[in-house]
Amino acid sequence: MLYTENRETEVRLLKKLWQAEPVLCPKCGAAELTHLHKKAKKSNNDWKCPACGEIYRTINMLMALPDD
Ligand SMILES: [Zn+2]
Repeated sequence: MLYTENRETEVRLLKKLWQAEPVLCPKCGAAELTHLHKKAKKSNNDWKCPACGEIYRTINMLMALPDD
């Protein structure tokens, strides 16, 4: 399942998350995503929307990308 409308925008979203760029929640659009584990030093992989509570795990998102 994708959070955005297609593979291209999903990949763009993933890249932003990995580079820790500000990303507006693609689900509710009400807030920027924040780290899920605020105290973890190394893991930039998991994000959470403080507004709607959606959790974004980039590893899972990567594996869910459709092949094309
Ligand atoms: Zn949200």
